[in-house]
Amino acid sequence: MLRYQVYHWAWLALDWLFPPVCGGCGEPGARWCEGCRQRVQRIEPPICEHCGQEVSQGAVCARCQSAPPAATTVRSWAVFAGPLRQALHRVKYRRDLALAEALVADCEPFVRSLGWDVDIVAPVPMSRGRLKERGYNQAALLARPLALRLNIPYQPQLLRRVRDTRSQVGLNRAERRQNVARAFEAAASRASGRAVLLVDDVATSGATLDACAQALWRAGARSVFGFTLARAALDP
Ligand SMILES: [Zn+2]
Ligand SMILES: [Zn+2]
Repeated sequence: MLRYQVYHWAWLALDWLFPPVCGGCGEPGARWCEGCRQRVQRIEPPICEHCGQEVSQGAVCARCQSAPPAATTVRSWAVFAGPLRQALHRVKYRRDLALAEALVADCEPFVRSLGWDVDIVAPVPMSRGRLKERGYNQAALLARPLALRLNIPYQPQLLRRVRDTRSQVGLNRAERRQNVARAFEAAASRASGRAVLLVDDVATSGATLDACAQALWRAGARSVFGFTLARAALDP
C-alpha cells in the first residue's frame, strides 16, 4: 500500500504545481471532475454471466451461447460514452497518467466487488508497431495503478504479441476473432498455475481479450479474468 501512496502523492504534488483540467469535460480544477464522475453510465444488470454484456433477458447472451469466451469471466465497469469516452481517449493519446489513476480509483470498488481470486495483473499488450509509434500501452497505464491499488503483483511482460494485427476498427465480430487469433503468447514460467486478471481500456467484441485468454490457457494459467473500464457496442 505504501507504494501506491507514494504514486498517489506524486500526482497530488503535480496537481498543486500545475492545476489540472478535467479529462472528461475540459473544465479546470480537477483531473476527473465530480460532474463527469456522476455522468458515467455504469453497466447495469441483467448482464451475460460470461462476457458481461448487457442482455435483455436470460443469464447468457446469444453470442456466448454459440461460442463461450475463453476468459473465465469478463466484466466492464461502464459504457464507452460521454465523459468516460473522452477521458479514455485522453489517456490513450495523451498519456495522461494522472487521469488514468483517477479513473482506476473510481472503478476499484467495482473490481473488488467481483470477488475474483487473482494472483497477477497484466495489461493486454499492444502491437509492436503501435507501441513503437506511441511509446506506451494505454492498457498498461490503467493496469498498473489497478494492480497497485489491489495490492496484486503486476506483470507487464506476461503476454506479448507474436504477430501484428490490423486495427479492429471496421471489422465485424467474426473478422475480429480471426484477426487476433494466435496473435499473443504468454510466458509459461509466469502464467503456469496462476489466476490472471487481464486489463484493457475498452472491450468491443471481446475478441482481443479472448485471444489473450487463449494464450494464457496454453501457458497453463489456472484462471483468466478480463476487466475493461468501458464496453463499446459493436454492430452485429
Ligand atoms: Zn469533467
Ligand atoms: Zn456473453
